[in-house]
Amino acid sequence: MRIFKFGGASVKDAPSVKNVASVLKKVGYEDVLIIVSAMGKTTNALEAVVETYQNKPEQLKTVIQELEAFHLDIVEDLLGENKAPLVEKVRGLIQELLTFFEYNKSPNYSFVYDQAVSFGELLSTTIIVDYLVSIGLPATWLDARQCIKTDNYYRDANLDWETTQSKIKALVNGAKLIVSQGFIGSDSNNFTTTLGREGSDYSAAIFGYALGAESVTIWKDVPGVLNGDPRHFENTVLLNQISYREAIELAFYGASVIHPKTLQPLQRKEIPLYVRSFIAPEGKGTAVSKGQTLDPYVPCFIIKKDQVLLKLSSLDFSFIVEDNISDIFALLSRFQMRVELIQNSAISFSVVVNNKYNRLEELLVELRAKYKVTVTEDVNLFTVRHFDQAAKEKVRSYGEKILLEQRTRETLQVVLAN
Ligand code: ASP
Repeated sequence: MRIFKFGGASVKDAPSVKNVASVLKKVGYEDVLIIVSAMGKTTNALEAVVETYQNKPEQLKTVIQELEAFHLDIVEDLLGENKAPLVEKVRGLIQELLTFFEYNKSPNYSFVYDQAVSFGELLSTTIIVDYLVSIGLPATWLDARQCIKTDNYYRDANLDWETTQSKIKALVNGAKLIVSQGFIGSDSNNFTTTLGREGSDYSAAIFGYALGAESVTIWKDVPGVLNGDPRHFENTVLLNQISYREAIELAFYGASVIHPKTLQPLQRKEIPLYVRSFIAPEGKGTAVSKGQTLDPYVPCFIIKKDQVLLKLSSLDFSFIVEDNISDIFALLSRFQMRVELIQNSAISFSVVVNNKYNRLEELLVELRAKYKVTVTEDVNLFTVRHFDQAAKEKVRSYGEKILLEQRTRETLQVVLAN
């Protein structure tokens, strides 16, 4: 069995959905399971729906109607005069969403979020299956919530591998072309859960792992994995092959093409992961598999923008030693600061953090009680894997001022002022 994952951009409108069908025809759809995300920016739109429910409930119906209209337009373009049964299904799902809000009593934001935001994937897969069937493809719909079993850590649920594996094996049997949802699952009470934003790649890997798939392919709007994000770096090249180990390193340092959680299950069963273009499906794309670290062996550039550099020193010029460091890390963990880079010297300790949860001010109050703190916000952290002299110079040229630099044998990291 092969697993294909189509993300939001690949199903953003009717022509894109038609393109999915043509990709399937080109590369074959026998024994294929496809995992699909919500259409276009629907997940963001549903997040806005949840916000509206919480803060401006009088506008809830209007925003949900916009979502319905967006999907019905796509249905119209795909099925024209044969659209009636699918229109009914889409309306049915929208009604279910409205009913959920009407009767919901839970004050748990994350719970409400998962029950609502999951409708993006339910709508997209419902539409895609009916379209594929209408053009003669033998597609069947599978509810991922019956397969992907998780705990109830809503919005970032953790997988129950054992149950999931046996459910998938029991439910995926025989059908030629199965369409299921990325990103969503359910807890032991069968409430819907989600696996975290951008979680559909992970869903594809979970199905791939459970089924011992031949391969998992992520179809994207880029030719494959490049050695740098072309929006930030010039003259990027396509990587033909990346080892699991190297791909995990790249994902760790922030390469956004591959969702970090996706790789581990695939590596465990040595299932190759292909990243290919849905615009030019004849291209080979990138293979992440056992084998060569990197082919071609070139420096890989990664940028993390909008980071915060903290420089701490003791108030009395005493050394920064183990207990200070452990104290600093406890605070970073308490305020949910992801640590990107550390460097220490006798009396100072520098750390680059990602202020994802906007808790910097709270952290600074605690830190300033014990240390002298210098804060530089909005810095860029560049990482170069397999750097050489030219790569080093290139990366330094991306900013006016180098605030910090660190290297190991394979990895150079440079913090530049913006
Ligand atoms: N639809 C979800 C999101 O936008 C999951 C995914 O696309 O991977 O985050």
